[in-house]
Amino acid sequence: MEKNKISFPSQILQPLVKHLKGEQKKLIETKKELNEADPFVVGNREADNSVDSDVAENVEHDRASAMRLHVTKSLISIRKTLSRIKLGKYGICVDCGKMIDTDRLAVSPTAENCMDCARKKEIKS
Ligand SMILES: [Zn+2]
Repeated sequence: MEKNKISFPSQILQPLVKHLKGEQKKLIETKKELNEADPFVVGNREADNSVDSDVAENVEHDRASAMRLHVTKSLISIRKTLSRIKLGKYGICVDCGKMIDTDRLAVSPTAENCMDCARKKEIKS
C-alpha cells in the first residue's frame, strides 16, 4: 500500500489548500452576485415588455448563465481537489493512476488527469 502512495509534502499542500479555499470563497460570492444580477432570477422585468429590453435581458441572461456554469464547474473541481488532498490522492491521475506532471499541477492545481488522459479526453469530446 505505502509504496503506491505518492504524498505531496504538507508544506506544498497546505498553501494549496489555503489557496483553493480562498478561491472557493470567491467563487461562492461570485455565484451569489450572478444570481442577483440575472434579470430572470430577480424577476424585475414586469413593467417593461418591449422587444428591445427582452433581447438585452436575454443577452444578459445568457452571459450570466455562461458565467454561472463556469463558476459551478470551478467550484466542483475545487471541491474534488480538496477531497483528493484529504485522501492523500492529490496529483494522481483519476483515470490511469499515474502521477500528474508537477508542471501541469503548477499551472492548473485542480487538474485530475495526467497529460495523456487529458489529451485522450479532448479527442473524445
Ligand atoms: Zn492518466
